[in-house]
Amino acid sequence: MSDIVGQLADLTALRDRASLDTALATTLYDLLHPERIVILRRVGSGGDERWLTCADIVHGVVDTSQTAAWADLEQLPAADQFPTRQQVLAERVHALASSNEQPNVFPLISANGASTVMELFFHQALTDEQVRLIDGILRLYQNFQNLLDYGERDALTDLLNRKTFDGAFMEATVSQRPMADVVLTDDNERRQPVISQNASASSAGYWLAMIDIDHFKHVNDNYGHLIGDEVLVLLARLMRQTFRIHDQLYRFGGEEFVVLMRCTSSEQAAQALERLRVVTEAYRFSQVGHITISVGFSEVLHGDSPSSAIERADKAVYYAKEHGRNQVCSFEELLACGKLASEPGNVGDIELF
Ligand code: GH3
Ligand code: MG
Ligand code: MG
Repeated sequence: MSDIVGQLADLTALRDRASLDTALATTLYDLLHPERIVILRRVGSGGDERWLTCADIVHGVVDTSQTAAWADLEQLPAADQFPTRQQVLAERVHALASSNEQPNVFPLISANGASTVMELFFHQALTDEQVRLIDGILRLYQNFQNLLDYGERDALTDLLNRKTFDGAFMEATVSQRPMADVVLTDDNERRQPVISQNASASSAGYWLAMIDIDHFKHVNDNYGHLIGDEVLVLLARLMRQTFRIHDQLYRFGGEEFVVLMRCTSSEQAAQALERLRVVTEAYRFSQVGHITISVGFSEVLHGDSPSSAIERADKAVYYAKEHGRNQVCSFEELLACGKLASEPGNVGDIELF
């Protein structure tokens, strides 16, 4: 019993989302020693839902082969290929294995609707007590996740909030995630990850984009704050549909949004942002009709600080606003063609360490 309490205390001391799923799987492994534990999140929307592997422990060893951090939606198995997982999420009750080759499937359903399952392969049928233990740990884990969400997410749009941005920015840019075997290549629509044995991590970088709704004050003035809020919720949804699963989407307050995206080139970042601009312009918001957005973006450089990257993206937004709105502007491009004046400290040259 004290083992379990100690494991749970360790688990709830973590704040890093990426480690939490693996910590949960490890906790369950240490308690039950199953053959395999997999944690899978159902991602995507609009009928194109897929399974993203978030943690996988095989005979006590963490297997990262399926958890490529930059997996693209199209590469993942379709949700409806796994009816038991779908049923477990729909009914919110576990499905126990009918043979040792089958997994026991348990649901994890968060307050914001995110849907996750845990599959546990066990050498024999689980006892009632083991099932109760697993259900209890998963409930506790989910409550903990909900608490983290509450602090990190914007209540209106469910995007990440401003408070979490600095930490995520520093983690993304300074601590260098293990990306050595993933290269991103272009296709017409979305960026495709290609797993390569000898690719270098330096082939991808980060871009920071700031998105601001054009003339949003008119929306509020003409239709009221509630309808304005609905536009914000719908734009957040368009953002989720446009960007990849691992691009980080923030609402910075008001009608301003930020995306921290990983790409191989400025052109690729511009393409993704242009896609959002076009999709937004074309979307018919039920009461308001059509809205447009202005976007500014800038490359995140080694040793960059969150505030200087935001400042550069903001200058590009300001330029877009001053020059007709409804457009995507690159800070570096504006600088290169003399449309923005270069200032010392403009381009991420702040030494932090
Ligand atoms: P611009 O094209 O220059 O960006 O014009 P704008 O009207 O969008 O810009 P401005 O910054 O002058 O106004 C932003 C407006 O956003 C002011 C306020 O009415 C509205 N706003 C800010 N926060 C919220 C919110 O949480 N909900 C709603 N409905 N409106 C908000
Ligand atoms: Mg604004
Ligand atoms: Mg605005």
